[in-house]
Amino acid sequence: MPTTPPPALEPILTPAHHRLWHEVDAFAAEYVAPRVQLMEDDRHKVERRIPQLMAERGWFGVTIPAQYGGMAAGHVAKTVMVHRTGVVSGAAAASLQASQIPVGALQLWGNPEQKNLWLPQAAAGERLLSIAVTEPEAGGHIGGIETTAQHDGEWWVITGEKAHIGNSNLAHLHVVIARTAPPDVHPSRALTAFLVEHDRKGISVDKHKAGLGLNGFTAGRLRMDHVRVPMGNVLGEVGKGMDVAQSASILYGRANLAAVSLGIHEALVSKTAQWLAARPRYEGRLSDLDVLRDRLGAMQARFQTAQSITYEAVHLLDTGKSCDPQLIGAKHTGHQLAADTAREALELHGAHGVTSDQLMQRLFRDIQYTYPPAGTAEFQRIHLARTALGEPAISWSEWLAAERAWARPDPTPA
Ligand SMILES: Cc1cc2nc3c(=O)[nH]c(=O)nc-3n(C[C@H](O)[C@H](O)[C@H](O)COP(=O)(O)OP(=O)(O)OC[C@H]3O[C@@H](n4cnc5c(N)ncnc54)[C@H](O)[C@@H]3O)c2cc1C
Repeated sequence: MPTTPPPALEPILTPAHHRLWHEVDAFAAEYVAPRVQLMEDDRHKVERRIPQLMAERGWFGVTIPAQYGGMAAGHVAKTVMVHRTGVVSGAAAASLQASQIPVGALQLWGNPEQKNLWLPQAAAGERLLSIAVTEPEAGGHIGGIETTAQHDGEWWVITGEKAHIGNSNLAHLHVVIARTAPPDVHPSRALTAFLVEHDRKGISVDKHKAGLGLNGFTAGRLRMDHVRVPMGNVLGEVGKGMDVAQSASILYGRANLAAVSLGIHEALVSKTAQWLAARPRYEGRLSDLDVLRDRLGAMQARFQTAQSITYEAVHLLDTGKSCDPQLIGAKHTGHQLAADTAREALELHGAHGVTSDQLMQRLFRDIQYTYPPAGTAEFQRIHLARTALGEPAISWSEWLAAERAWARPDPTPA
């Protein structure tokens, strides 16, 4: 059912954001909610219908400028979409956000030909993208990437394996980060980003396997065996793949994951409040007991904090402010707070939580999935410690603001 944005977000949300909020709530109630149980029951199937419906509405192009047919609605709008979807289904929200990170990379680093070719297709929902950075062994260590791309005349030949790639089984175009220099070259100059079409010879995606949760969402393995792509498929400059990956992860990925965890967090709090208010105890309900109200109050406080830091970070981004630490902090702390709430929520459901309450179990499992993507907590804290110590670091949000200023008139309204 459509809800009303909380007053705390009034300083940030425009009338267009309000309309979007209602639209996404209505969409989630009509199209996502009825499929949630199907996704749970058919754990080994990839959910295709919901991403298709979202694609038809142009939602994967929420940040794409109007000149390419995108919604040109910005990062707060993107957060509204992912957050509101996530209240109903973490899996649907994960799918919505996963293809927006490579769209961001294409917007940030694509040359005019690449943007003219791919952005309209992404905006129209005809093509979904994935970003393929992680490898089975390298994990969060981007410098350890072993996938190679070797020059062969007018072609690059890519060989390697990528793991945990969001929307791997749905994507038509993969943004692949590969090594283009020997191992002794520093990662900041050794990696290159490539646009790799899903139907190129030598590329394959493993069959989807269900995991702990997020049923319906696919984050699988991409294998490339001497896949040939033309020179024109290099995204950004040769040797600058680390910048492509990091900028997309910080400017898009961090906020996206904060929004997924926020949606799940909201569902956890409202589900627990309903449970406590309904369950009889003594002459009243569990929600009459001070000790339990105290715990519910702590859950609500955590949710409000997560909501504030998430929306504040993307608002800063939309308004051209320097905000990398806020984006990183929103992902880090948003997940941590939601995971604390999930544990408390499960405890407050007693035996029902672990034996029979399927919604509670789904939320508890799904929240575990917002820890690894776009950098685990340790990696966020490595960045944030640099901020605390005043050490120099690239500010991707400042870079984006400068790029936008250079590209004026900017068709993307804040
Ligand atoms: C739902 C989901 C979606 C994802 N989507 C994508 C995607 O679209 N594209 C993509 O490329 N990847 C994606 N990933 C992968 C994700 O980015 C990685 O899981 C993450 O980078 C961590 O890598 P890893 O899981 O191999 O863990 P590892 O890197 O092996 O780390 C294991 C543990 O050790 C810690 N650790 C490792 N190195 C250090 C260090 N130097 N200092 C301190 N602690 C350290 C980690 O924090 C973690 O706790 C996704 C993952 C999930 C779960």
